[in-house]
Amino acid sequence: MRVARAASIKRMSFQLFGLPVSRGFAIGRAVLVASSRVDVAHYFIGPDRVDAEIDRLRSSRDAVADELSTLQRDLPPEAPAELSALLDVHLMLLHDEALTGATKQWIRERHYNAEWALSAQLEVLARQFDEMEDEYLRERKADLEQVVERLLRAMARGPAASYAPAPGVKARDFAGEDPLVLVASDIAPADMLQFKRSVFMGFVTDVGGKTSHTAIVARSMDIPAVVGAREASRIIRQDDWVVIDGDAGIVVVDPSPIILEEYRFRQRQSELSRERLSRLRHTPAVTLDGERVELLANIEMPGDAVTALEAGAVGVGLFRSEFLFMNRGGELPSEDEQFEAYRSAVQAMKGLPVTIRTVDIGADKPIDRMSASELRHEHALNPALGLRAIRWSLSEPGMFRQQLRAILRASAYGKVRLLIPMVAHLSEVRLTLEALARAKQQLNEAGRAFTHVEVGAMIEVPAAALMLPAFLRHFDFVSIGTNDLIQYTLAIDRADEAVAHLYDPWHPAVLRLLSQTITGARAVGKSVCVCGEMAGDPMFTELLLGIGLRSFSMHPSQISSIKQRVLRADLRHWAAHVEHVLGADDPERACAAVQFATPTLSRELTGLQG
Ligand code: PEP
Ligand code: MG
Repeated sequence: MRVARAASIKRMSFQLFGLPVSRGFAIGRAVLVASSRVDVAHYFIGPDRVDAEIDRLRSSRDAVADELSTLQRDLPPEAPAELSALLDVHLMLLHDEALTGATKQWIRERHYNAEWALSAQLEVLARQFDEMEDEYLRERKADLEQVVERLLRAMARGPAASYAPAPGVKARDFAGEDPLVLVASDIAPADMLQFKRSVFMGFVTDVGGKTSHTAIVARSMDIPAVVGAREASRIIRQDDWVVIDGDAGIVVVDPSPIILEEYRFRQRQSELSRERLSRLRHTPAVTLDGERVELLANIEMPGDAVTALEAGAVGVGLFRSEFLFMNRGGELPSEDEQFEAYRSAVQAMKGLPVTIRTVDIGADKPIDRMSASELRHEHALNPALGLRAIRWSLSEPGMFRQQLRAILRASAYGKVRLLIPMVAHLSEVRLTLEALARAKQQLNEAGRAFTHVEVGAMIEVPAAALMLPAFLRHFDFVSIGTNDLIQYTLAIDRADEAVAHLYDPWHPAVLRLLSQTITGARAVGKSVCVCGEMAGDPMFTELLLGIGLRSFSMHPSQISSIKQRVLRADLRHWAAHVEHVLGADDPERACAAVQFATPTLSRELTGLQG
């Protein structure tokens, strides 16, 4: 593309290494998105809208020019002369063809909406500023960013684009356009969610761990992704050709034709094997020795229920309701709005159970509404150990009862189960059950219909796993959140790539807590599910089956692979091996014990762990 390439120097192909979080291969042009600007809308405009979009850009430039001239004119006489000179610089940048002229070209040639085009061009120019020798000129980057912020704000104030971005429109829908991949330093889960039905074929971030919520959303989008690629967003340039190898965690920048051909081949192979696997969609998940296994789906939004059903899920094992609370400018969804969302998921599942988890806000999933003091805590202290999940819900009793009422009301339309995240204290259990009783009473008084809803606890803190018998007296079922159970057992921040090598599901302490929870729940006849990422990792399927797990909940895209493992598993064989695995005193031995029992399996072959 002319705009971005003008100042580019041809580089040799090179690789960056990160953590593989979502399998497959993506090949496309890099779209760099600065984390502060990820809330800029990214969508394609139809050819007939190009002129109108350029007009939006032009009007916002005129508005900002007025704004800056007025500011300059109204400067008090005692204002330092530098201020006026600074405004001159801003005005000059504003009218510089390198900014607005090139932005127009992004719109014309790529059909980006104006905001996206502007931020794409900002990335190009910012990089050029970074490379300048002269310190004074280098520092002008901040001025450019301020001018662009002004333009973006003016666009937000101005007449909105008169058309909605068509959901699911892909780059390839525009003849001659290249597929795009997203490159960012970091992407918050809420921002990631906005990209869910967007144009990107894959993504790379500098930071993040394999079970960070950003990675989880990427996996749910079923697009190849690599996180923790450290300097990726600094080294990769706007519009570079990039290959994302989501199996190995490798990013190839400016691939040579031969590398490109190799990856295109792998891409085709991986599509073929997916197609083959998808034929298992409607096959019941039964082991070789006849044990039926329940394969459920994890979803983030009600619309995902359709994907879950298509993938052959026999229910939803985890609806992460907190995603309904994000990207709302601080407003919480009302009871009715939540009810509609839950009802739509329940109805889409056509009588199959839907397990709705109450909000798990906090840690790497803050919401805009959090108070200043909460946010201060979020940033200054350790958010994963802070006001999160049920702790936050109990600190907002009105909000909590509202959510409980909405979930209960959805039970009138299908089978609903209620799941409570991150319980660690019996006092939390008592308060939760009291809130639930109160919510039911309020519904009864208002004459609102609801039916029996089973209540379960997530076991994701070692304290809960160790106190299981006491917890089980109050709950109908439990669901093991291995993502957090690993984080809290090993004291490893799941979103921190610096300690990602220590985040190990094979750690014997993790495996023993898991086993203890599964056998403990079964012993008293309560159902138990695993809904953390381990459930969707084929590396663990036989081990979990051998321990006694019969219910797995995962991203819909993983169901077929896990089903294939289930269909090939002989539980009598695996039950005999479990003891060796659990008896291992380090992660390598535990993993080796599983490999020994499955000679064809290698740890590297199965995406998630390593
Ligand atoms: C977990 O912790 O394993 C889990 C399923 O919950 P989340 O990933 O949303 O924290
Ligand atoms: Mg969790």
